[in-house]
Amino acid sequence: MRKKIVAGNWKMNLDLEEGKELVRSLIQEDLSAEVECILIPSFVHLSEVSKLTEQTTLKLGSQNNHAVNGGAYTGEVSAKMLQSVGVSYGLVGHSERRIYQKEDAETLSAKVQQLLKNGINPIFCCGESLSERKNSQHFETVEKQLQLLWELEPKEFEQVIIAYEPVWAIGTGETATAEQAQEMHAFIRAQLQKNFGTLAAQCSILYGGSCKPGNAAELFAQEDVDGGLIGGASLKAKDFAAIVNAF
Ligand code: PEP
Repeated sequence: MRKKIVAGNWKMNLDLEEGKELVRSLIQEDLSAEVECILIPSFVHLSEVSKLTEQTTLKLGSQNNHAVNGGAYTGEVSAKMLQSVGVSYGLVGHSERRIYQKEDAETLSAKVQQLLKNGINPIFCCGESLSERKNSQHFETVEKQLQLLWELEPKEFEQVIIAYEPVWAIGTGETATAEQAQEMHAFIRAQLQKNFGTLAAQCSILYGGSCKPGNAAELFAQEDVDGGLIGGASLKAKDFAAIVNAF
């Protein structure tokens, strides 16, 4: 059985008090025990959110980590540091970082390795731009983005979660249809199968891109959609809880 997962990426939102308030509100919500819920706040929030969620089933994720484990890299945060504050999942390859920070496959591969070395499960994001979708290059793009995972050992791959996030659907209010999501998730699983055989069936593939309470149930009902990576709607406890409970 694949894990059902809903992860909330807070991005660069909420100050410390607002973040703590959101966690307190979420703890009051009745969240399905079948779903692994992951909170992915900014670095600033991590240790406080870690304390608040200690006695709960909520898990902690990071939005980024550096490609090396420590040293003279002013302003950076290593996977080792993240592990020390209770992070168990780490986003890698989010389109905002690919676009604004120009993160390439080599960097992303090193980041994945750092997470794995520190016992953190990478949530590897992939997804095509609007022009790639319009030119029917979406499968080719995603296939290329996934390639850096093929160098992993099967034992390492078992720790990886994939998030398919079409760039044109992130923060735009425009969601992929359930059919578009299923089509790409099935394609991704077929690529995983080619490279890791039966392990592909165990890998959770999340959908991300304007997922909200009103469309989550239809998306999550698709055979190869194992949950969601949620941006905007993760900032409101009621909305996030409704998405978690949409399975
Ligand atoms: C995201 O950034 O991962 C995301 C899915 O954002 P939104 O839900 O706001 O589209």
